[in-house]
Amino acid sequence: MSNRFIVEGVSISPDHLIGGKRVPSKETFAVHSPLNWSVELGRIARGDGETAQQAVAAAEQAFPAWAALSSAERATYLHRLADLIEERKEDLAIVECMDMAMLHESLRLRLIPRGALNFRNYADLAVDYKERVWSSKGTANRVVRMPAGPTVIITPWNAPFMLSTWKCAPALAAGNTVILKPAEWSPLSAALLGDLIVEAGFPAGVFNIVQGIGEEVGAGLVSDPRVRRISFTGSPETAVHIGVAAAKNIVPFTAELGGKGPLIVFEDADIDAAAKKAAGQFDDSGQVCLAGTRILVQASIRDKFLELFHHYADQHVMGDSRDESTTISPMIHPVHMARVAGFVERARKNGDTIVRGGKVFKEGGLWYEPTLIEPKSNASEVVQSEIFGPVLTFQTFVDEADAVRLANSTKYGLSGIVYTSSAERAERMGLAIRAGTVWVNCFLVRDLTAPFGGVGTSGIGREGGDYALDFHSELKTIQILDGSVA
Ligand code: NAD
Repeated sequence: MSNRFIVEGVSISPDHLIGGKRVPSKETFAVHSPLNWSVELGRIARGDGETAQQAVAAAEQAFPAWAALSSAERATYLHRLADLIEERKEDLAIVECMDMAMLHESLRLRLIPRGALNFRNYADLAVDYKERVWSSKGTANRVVRMPAGPTVIITPWNAPFMLSTWKCAPALAAGNTVILKPAEWSPLSAALLGDLIVEAGFPAGVFNIVQGIGEEVGAGLVSDPRVRRISFTGSPETAVHIGVAAAKNIVPFTAELGGKGPLIVFEDADIDAAAKKAAGQFDDSGQVCLAGTRILVQASIRDKFLELFHHYADQHVMGDSRDESTTISPMIHPVHMARVAGFVERARKNGDTIVRGGKVFKEGGLWYEPTLIEPKSNASEVVQSEIFGPVLTFQTFVDEADAVRLANSTKYGLSGIVYTSSAERAERMGLAIRAGTVWVNCFLVRDLTAPFGGVGTSGIGREGGDYALDFHSELKTIQILDGSVA
């Protein structure tokens, strides 16, 4: 008898996908919707160490044949999967919306299509790869990309489908076999992706999905010596565990981690556009790693900026993520909301000023009011730690040097946002901010071929474009002595 369950009319498999087959687990865990926590959406397989070993064995077995295909042959599978994602866009969007409460429209229009694009983009990039060929020291040199082996992909709960596809696509395109472990707080879109992988006809074991808790099945996966690459997105704390496991087996890993990005507004900027974007950092309840959560404004425009910021922040509507009028969705989980509330309580005790918000919106729900805090000092916890909720800080600076000092004063370095109308300043700030990505007069505009990653505690390595394909490959140099072969 099928143990599938239904979410908003969409059939979900609770099982793992291992070696092309649905594999159940003895243990399961409950999935709740942040839109109405009292309702259990279903139960999902809770893998263990044995599940991890099974999945790695399947990926290892499938690897030689998948690696032997040409990039163009592999690309046909990735494009077929992208077609299926586009066909099932509505189902994926509503399931992910119910699972983790991101705005339905944003999923339908932006993030689910981006999942399809991730597969297309990497399929094409791998096909287009031009080997480097040159002559030196009497030899012909050639650099080839060799597929690396079974690859573990571990993803967080905050943009599950987009991030899983962003990380699995380059590994598959490079010729690696994959085991995806989605986050236990939002496992449903990956469960649905499993159906599409089967439908796309991937050879058994090429693309596996295991469900479960990080410290259980996740830890089993990353410590398996047969795994040749680990690509992780999540918190710095988990990255330490994964890094230790990777080091024990000498396995390259990338880690895309938390952020505490500055959003810097100079007096020469379009202040209205900057204030609107700053209030937009409450989107997705602030559960965005790249968000500019530290608003830094030139002191000369403080009042004007704050007036405009409040104007835009007032327009936010907290509500059901399925409603088009909603702009702020609930937070993912009661545990996470309590964590966010804890930051605000400690800020109060610390003497930081709560400028707006600072409390749960409605008892019994998971909405937290969009909150702005003016810290007592730059050392305040709310300035220095990633909160990952709808909580922004506000500080002023006197000049450019002061702005750079504040911008670079946390251990993180994922992203930075600058508002200025000066080209020279844009150039200087772009170089001076310690971060993997700096946006000037815009935010979240992404070119998928650009490198993506963090500095400091925000990560190790770069993904995106050829950078990800190189990471998932063993680059090899072949040198042939001139005139020695005909
Ligand atoms: P998390 O580190 O708690 O969990 C991430 C994943 O790791 C989950 O799948 C979890 O099950 C797994 N995991 C936990 N312990 C493990 C272990 N010992 N071994 C193997 N796997 C383990 O992170 P989260 O709370 O899900 O996500 C939020 C964090 O992710 C925030 O810090 C956020 O900034 C970051 N994030 C970063 C990016 C980026 O691109 N830099 C994108 C999104 C989220």
